[in-house]
Order: sequence, then C-alpha cells, then structure tokens
Amino acid sequence: MSATVIDGKAFAATVREKVAIHVARLKEEHGITPGLAVVLVGEDPASQVYVRSKGKMTVEVGMNSYEHKLDIDTPEDVLLALIAKLNADPAVHGILVQLPLPKHLDEDLVINAIDPAKDVDGFHISNVGLLGTGQKSMVPCTPLGCLMMLRDHHGALSGMNAVVIGRSNIVGKPMAQLLLNDSCTVTIAHSRTKDLPDVVRGADIVVAAVGRPEMVPGDWIKDGATVIDVGINRIDAPEKGEGKTRLVGDVHYESCAAVAGAITPVPGGVGPMTIACLLANTVTACCRANNLAEPEGLTA
Ligand code: NDP
Repeated sequence: MSATVIDGKAFAATVREKVAIHVARLKEEHGITPGLAVVLVGEDPASQVYVRSKGKMTVEVGMNSYEHKLDIDTPEDVLLALIAKLNADPAVHGILVQLPLPKHLDEDLVINAIDPAKDVDGFHISNVGLLGTGQKSMVPCTPLGCLMMLRDHHGALSGMNAVVIGRSNIVGKPMAQLLLNDSCTVTIAHSRTKDLPDVVRGADIVVAAVGRPEMVPGDWIKDGATVIDVGINRIDAPEKGEGKTRLVGDVHYESCAAVAGAITPVPGGVGPMTIACLLANTVTACCRANNLAEPEGLTA
C-alpha cells in the first residue's frame, strides 16, 4: 500500500481561512477585533522565529498582534506583572508565553498566572483538568491540529486503537486525552514501554511525539494505519552538501508510507497546523469572552 499524504500545509490554510472569515464577522457585526499577545523572554533564535511567524499570521487573519519582548534576565515578578496586565486588558483575548523560559523563571508558576480563559496554549492547570474531564477548555495547539487532521481524514474515530508515543504535557498527554474523548482505545507509550514495536503494531492510529529522528520504522506499522508524525528534528544532510541539514520527523517516512494508509510528512504535516490552531484558539477565546457563538470545526 502507498499511503495518502495528509497535507498539513494545505489543511492549515483552510483553518486560517475559516479563522479569517470569523474574525471579519466579529469586526463587522460586533465591532470586536480578536487580539493575541505573545510574550518572549530572551533571545533564543528558534523562539524568535516562532514568535515572528505567529505575529505575522495573526495579522494576516485580521487579528491584532501584541508582541512583548523581555530581556533574558527579566525578574519573575516583572513577567508576572505583565501577565496580570494582559489578563486585565479587554483587547487581549489570547496570551501565549513562548517556552522554554530562561532557567531562573518557574514555568509552571508563569503559565498558571495566565487567565485560563485567555490561555490559548491550553497549558494552564485548569484547562488540563477541564480537558481531562471532557469539559469545554482551551486545547493545546499541536494535539488539536493532529485531532483536526484525523477527524478530517477518518470522520468518526470511535472505537479505533490509537497509540501515542510520548507522554509530554504539551503533546503526548493532551493528544491521548483528545483521542479518548473521541472514543478511541488509547495506549500511551514512553521510554519505559516494553515491546514498543508490538504495541505500535496494534494501532489503527499512531501519533509519534518522541523527539528522536526517524525512530519508528515501517515494520512497526499495521497495514493501512494512519501515522501522525509530530516530531521535528534537524539532522545532517551531507548529500545536500557540506554542513547542510534537513528536517525529519520521529517516523521513518519512506518505510512507514509504504505500509500506512495515511501519513503526515515532515515538514508540511503537523507543524503548520500548530500555528493555525493557535489562531483558532484565539478566535474561540474571543467568542467565549463575548458570549458569542464559536466558529464551527475549530475546537475539540
Ligand atoms: P518531550 O521530550 O517533552 O517528550 C518526549 C517523549 O518521548 C517522552 O514522554 C519520552 O518518554 C518519550 N520517549 C523518548 N525516547 C523514547 C523511546 N526511545 N521510546 C519511546 N518513547 C520515548 O518532547 P515533546 O513532546 O515536547 O516533543 C516531541 C517531538 O515533537 C519533538 O520532536 C518536538 O520537536 C516535536 N514538536 C513538534 C511540534 C509541532 O508543532 N509540530 C510542537 C511540539 C513538539 P519519557 O517520558 O519516559 O522520558
């Protein structure tokens, strides 16, 4: 079998289009412009790139973007004071603190200082609890993007066997929770899992969120299974020339695509969906804050 390629780039464009339509409606009918505040502490180059591209896409869908860049040695109380100010600002509907934070800042404390209703990353402990109990919450962007692609490809996911490899708070655990909420039978695998290949072979849906380049080979994949590759790993690519690199996922694409029914590529799969879902979460937060109908198909 040769797998259907799930085109995350194209799908993300449709999500952004839906967001833009809803934003236009909010402006026209209610005079409200959704606003997203992004806070960056320090000058980590990868984080700077993410923040820049988040700001650009926020503006492209018609929302207001507020960027707050703080020095790497910003004291915790200064960051917390900024978050309190953004929490109280009615023009700000979503707040994102770019992770990782410098070592002297307590990430849990900072994230939990964000108003849960504005927590568009879905990392606040209240949102984790709401998701875990199947209640309306802000859902972490990467797993939300994976869920949207799975629903789009399969329709209903009920009864499917899903294996999530990775148990991080930002990807693995919320992904497993979302799949459970959609009535999958879910296994969460991690570094201590015994017989991982056998566990994965039982899956109709495999979500790999490990952070190890091309770790999952095709002979772990059941014929026709759907493979969602969350991993983003930069590896050396001497075939492209000296010092060149390329991006690969956590699954070995060629061998998995040969047996899977559907697969997301890297790049161009889960990655573009993450920012699209951040925009979707911001418009959802704005609607909830104003007691207005939420856009359809943009939440879990
Ligand atoms: P973490 O490092 O936080 O978690 C990795 C998980 O993988 C851990 O639970 C770990 O298990 C598990 N793991 C590590 N080695 C193995 C192994 N040999 N066998 C089985 N499980 C293993 O990573 P994240 O969840 O933050 O990210 C995962 C990947 O997704 C990374 O490549 C990251 O770059 C990418 N990513 C992509 C995003 C996107 O937008 N596309 C967004 C976020 C992340 P244990 O808990 O036992 O240590």
